[in-house]
Amino acid sequence: MHCPFCSAPDTRVVDSRLSGDGMQVRRRRECTECSERFTTYESAELNLPRVVKQDGSRQPFLEEKLRSGLCKALEKRPVSMEGVEASVSKIKHKLQSMGEREVEARTIGQWVMEELKELDHVAYIRFASVYLSFDDVNAFREAIEKLEKK
Ligand SMILES: [Zn+2]
Repeated sequence: MHCPFCSAPDTRVVDSRLSGDGMQVRRRRECTECSERFTTYESAELNLPRVVKQDGSRQPFLEEKLRSGLCKALEKRPVSMEGVEASVSKIKHKLQSMGEREVEARTIGQWVMEELKELDHVAYIRFASVYLSFDDVNAFREAIEKLEKK
């Protein structure tokens, strides 16, 4: 990387070590031109994207909200908390691996529906009937018909 003092295009790493519980790499660098030293920190960017609601407002992603949404749909259904946690992890993983700053609430809703479809059909229908907008009602009806055929 460029030297922050003289903007020379080349700096060399003189020391590299783990910091912050091994989640970060701290590097001492030295400029090959002016010999100034500085430190950089490197860590994986796994920040969760912000959620864009239908009205355009942005909110932080809340894992607890996702979990309670799943639990609400699964109320009194024969699905273990392990199943819920596995779904929460899968959705979080998708959010982190997409590497985007923002994600549509709708996209998360679709992922929740996919998870519920695997976990429990009754919960899936419950969630879909609350989550889907009026425009989607026909698509939803088709989805139920497909499930009933199975
Ligand atoms: Zn320099």
